[in-house]
Amino acid sequence: MVPALRAGDILSGPQGPRALRKMRVRGNQQQEVKSSMLCLGIESTAHTFGAGIADSDGRILSNTRDTFVPKQGKGIVPREAADHHADVCSRVIGDALRQSGVTLSDIDLIAFAQGPGLPPCLRVGAVAARTLALKLNRPLVGVNHAVGHIEIGKLATGAQDPVILYVSGGNTQVLALAGGRYRVFGETLDIPVGNALDQFAREAGLGNPGGRCVEEAARSGKYVELPYVVKGMDLSFAGIVTAALQKLKEGTAVEDLCYSLQETCFAMLVEVTERALAHTDKKEVLLVGGVAANKRFSEMIGIMAKERGAKTFVVPQEYAGDNGVNIAWGGILEHRAGRMLEIEKSATDSRWRADEVEVRW
Ligand code: AMP
Ligand code: MG
Repeated sequence: MVPALRAGDILSGPQGPRALRKMRVRGNQQQEVKSSMLCLGIESTAHTFGAGIADSDGRILSNTRDTFVPKQGKGIVPREAADHHADVCSRVIGDALRQSGVTLSDIDLIAFAQGPGLPPCLRVGAVAARTLALKLNRPLVGVNHAVGHIEIGKLATGAQDPVILYVSGGNTQVLALAGGRYRVFGETLDIPVGNALDQFAREAGLGNPGGRCVEEAARSGKYVELPYVVKGMDLSFAGIVTAALQKLKEGTAVEDLCYSLQETCFAMLVEVTERALAHTDKKEVLLVGGVAANKRFSEMIGIMAKERGAKTFVVPQEYAGDNGVNIAWGGILEHRAGRMLEIEKSATDSRWRADEVEVRW
């Protein structure tokens, strides 16, 4: 039985098995139309194993994940995170299918995060994706993890042509589309900003995720001086963490250090972003990646952007950290541009940069 549809509807989600997704209503007449494509995206670049299902009209059907939590006081050991991913992989993918109400055979395309990331972790997602592509006889697409973060940000916020701040546990870059690629205008010279917050939180015994704990503690803090390190358009965070930890040892209150860490690191990012905006003459700023969840950060970027007549967009929280939907949507875009992988050429690349990807969609 075909459920009642409104004109223009394409069924998807729990009510939409594959056959029904092919029916579109025009007036009172149901017609066969080209079905919307479904992509299963697999994310496994670092701490998170995620699966997401998106369709080619930009609808998100499911988003499931399981994040490896290191032992108290320890950072991510790549091998341990990879073992975690292998343990949870089938369950997370199964949950994504159940959440979206589709079966494996409904999936038209398999995408995976091909890089950058931690090699043992990347390989778990790649093996899962290759296995599914072979079993289902579906095309396989490798998605650049950073490009996935950017594109979901654009899809979810409606930003058209922004300067992008990609700020996460594994990356810190200021990018903008120019000449068919996301060019890197500035980036960290050492550790990413999320990693800096995580390192400080870990040493100070604040808990996980570090960035969120620092944000909470910072609310009652006041400013103490920390090094401010911008070199041209690039940034350095490692020395700031060392200085903050030194001050912690000397007795400075942890809340004051959290507040000052945020103010210093975020002001550095605001400075570089402002220069990128001035240089490109773009009128939008988009924040993506786990650190985009920080309210003080989006406030600081927002103030700067407003003063320049630019609009600020922040990726919604559920797509800020690593997740499979980023990869599913990235997979749809890459597939649309005709970039598919042969299994033999689907090796992961732990150092694959966003600016190596041709943006052909
Ligand atoms: P990702 O690498 O994109 O999955 O994001 C994880 C990073 O985001 C970690 O470094 C977290 O500490 C950081 N993070 C999460 N929530 C917040 C927050 N509210 N403020 C700052 N950083 C955060
Ligand atoms: Mg990320």
